[in-house]
Amino acid sequence: MTTLLMDPAPLVRAHDAGALAPRAEFPLLAADPALVYLDSAATAQKPRAVLDAMRAYYETANANPHRGAYRLSAAATEAYAAARARVARFCGLADADCLVFVRGTTEAMNLAAGSWGRAHVGPGDEVVVTAMDHHAAFVTWQQLARERGAAFRIAELTADGRVDEDHFASLLSERTRVVAFPHVSNALGTVNPVARLAGLARERSGGRALVVCDGAQGVPHMAVGFDALAAAGVDLYAFSGHKVGGPMGVGALLGRRAVLEAMPPWQFGGDMISRVGDEETTWNALPHKFEAGTPNVGDAVGLAAAVEWLDALGADRVLAHERALAARALDALGALPGLTLYGPGAESRSGVVSFSVEGVHPHDLATILDERGVCIRAGHHCAQPLMRRLGVPATARASFWAYTTPEDVDALVDGVRAAQRLFGVGG
Ligand code: PLP
Repeated sequence: MTTLLMDPAPLVRAHDAGALAPRAEFPLLAADPALVYLDSAATAQKPRAVLDAMRAYYETANANPHRGAYRLSAAATEAYAAARARVARFCGLADADCLVFVRGTTEAMNLAAGSWGRAHVGPGDEVVVTAMDHHAAFVTWQQLARERGAAFRIAELTADGRVDEDHFASLLSERTRVVAFPHVSNALGTVNPVARLAGLARERSGGRALVVCDGAQGVPHMAVGFDALAAAGVDLYAFSGHKVGGPMGVGALLGRRAVLEAMPPWQFGGDMISRVGDEETTWNALPHKFEAGTPNVGDAVGLAAAVEWLDALGADRVLAHERALAARALDALGALPGLTLYGPGAESRSGVVSFSVEGVHPHDLATILDERGVCIRAGHHCAQPLMRRLGVPATARASFWAYTTPEDVDALVDGVRAAQRLFGVGG
């Protein structure tokens, strides 16, 4: 550490040059001009508009929705419905009742497996995932397959970190009952050809497979267009609000109406029922059938504000911005000795750059970078099957969003160089 103190990073960020969204819109970033936040794939910083919308909801409209005859409860009900409509519109889903609010992607996957999976998967069936799936999908479908006596198949990746489409296709047949893959890999940044993979899954399974796309790293970085993806073969699509600039604790599961209607409820309680008899109960209509108990209105309002903010910024511009930053990072890091970069070229990825530095453990690197005010993630990124295939226990991962600047990327590269000097590696 002494070396670091003698070799400080430039601590003052002069400006926002090159950001898509000014730091000033993010109170946490504005409060600390020296902070270089490169962990947006884990969670994004929140624009002021989100914090304001949540505060306004709690200060003016908070009540338990759906249940009260009084005006304040009606205001909460309206705020919740408006949030659903806003998020659905942002995702390109015309039928807002086909958007179920959940805690996040993990809960959405558990809902899909616990409901559709338990009802439709059995012995002799096959469940297909990819080697780049996040544990939220990988483990959930693995355990569903085990529980139901189905075979669990893993589509392998190409050397540059894409789904090997030939292998993927070879796993699909009329026995396939579930196909899950991520829109974007959280550990590699690879943007998958969702419509093509979904089309293959639908065609090869004869329409028998449920096609589930994990959109946790999709929605924050590009316009998704769910209805078009559904037409191509996607049945369910999930994402987490906190990666889109919304609060933690809310996310969404989007689905085709016919699929959601055929799914049994997965949690029981208030709101999700239509009529409760002594022996039998009937279920409420979509989306309430899947939203048992008091809903998370305040966070849904925050998520709606986040997508409103992102829409105004231009969701499509985010990916281009991130790709430019990824290209800068890949070029500069790739020029350093002893660096291994994982994943495809910048043109096929979002703003995620995963790498290893020979002679420096990713956790040490993250600690050294933190000393310089640079936040990155080190670890297996909830993708241990992928790490095994890469032959490493962990990688270092920098991830970008709308507020990231080229200067931030340069701070990362300078920090990696400093770590190499400290460890006496890299020549
Ligand atoms: N899927 C992917 C691709 C992710 O990146 C993440 C979070 O890192 C998840 C699923 C899980 O999201 P959450 O923890 O918000 O449920």
